[in-house]
Amino acid sequence: MGRWIEGKTLADKIKEEIKEEVAHFQKTANKAPGLIGILVGENRASQIYLRSKEKTSRALGIAGEILTLPAEIKAKLLKEKIEELNNRDDVDGILVQLPLPAHLSAHDIICAISPEKDVDGFHPFSLGNLLANQEGPQPCTPMGIIELLKFHHIPIEGQEVVVIGRSMIVGKPLAAMLTNENATVTICHSKTRNLANVASRADILIAAMGRAAFVLPDFVKEGATVIDVGINYLADRAKAAELFGKDEKREKDLAEKGYTVVGDVHPRVFEKAGRMTPVPGGVGLLTVAMLMKNTLEAFKRRRKLKEASQIP
Ligand code: NDP
Repeated sequence: MGRWIEGKTLADKIKEEIKEEVAHFQKTANKAPGLIGILVGENRASQIYLRSKEKTSRALGIAGEILTLPAEIKAKLLKEKIEELNNRDDVDGILVQLPLPAHLSAHDIICAISPEKDVDGFHPFSLGNLLANQEGPQPCTPMGIIELLKFHHIPIEGQEVVVIGRSMIVGKPLAAMLTNENATVTICHSKTRNLANVASRADILIAAMGRAAFVLPDFVKEGATVIDVGINYLADRAKAAELFGKDEKREKDLAEKGYTVVGDVHPRVFEKAGRMTPVPGGVGLLTVAMLMKNTLEAFKRRRKLKEASQIP
């Protein structure tokens, strides 16, 4: 029987530390970090994510703002808007909420963000720094996973880690971070042969695929640490009952919202894993906390740069 690795305690701790530091800057320098989230179009999930980021930033004393732009905006105009934000002194962090409408290339748009304001850590400059194991903003979800492992004293160095998923948001940067932490890392994806076999080698198995309850007990070595990154919206009541049995919270979600949030890992894995993150209540809570951390760090780096550039 495993133990849960919940994310709330660490997320609250990190947010509290950020709040104190922001209050300090506000008091001593009368300055606070500024974060702008860009929403293109009306994707409901994106609206919810951005509002939650805005709410958290304000609660920590960070000036959060959402810039909403029409779905049909041309790439050229969107990049001009980003350039305006790049030039605004009160803006320390810019994030473009993904996914973007199909006519826009996420890569192209993210490249328009000034690397010093890239708080999502998705800019090629930031990703290059990550590969080179240099300082700089790093993607928030993988950063949260590393922090969570460290907080729970789960060793990374020398461990066999399998990451299922190779997106630029989670899988690839996470594999780079784990390598920087001296783990032995294998990345799996939809073309991996014998996935269960490969996954079951892992001391730490990380599922970031977006497939509800896909990772079954035979993917998992007895006693392994299992990190479930998946966020899947399950509307099928019969399937939910099959996965979770009688679960009042999930039944309430299904009745009120029409869905329950399910990870990529099957609940039965808990019996076999040493430790496992819940969904919800695990990795997801760290992502926003890490965004706030990146924003504060960007603010501090920029101030330092500015001070340095003002030296006669
Ligand atoms: P993507 O869809 O971009 O990537 C999914 C990856 O999983 C791909 O590399 C894909 O392989 C792989 N994959 C899909 N199906 C299989 C399969 N059957 N076998 C092996 N590999 C497979 O997703 P993201 O990385 O953006 O997100 C992954 C999950 O994490 C989602 O549920 C998302 O909602 C969640 N997420 C959670 C966050 C949080 O804060 N907790 C933040 C970001 C994401 P291939 O490359 O070959 O297609």
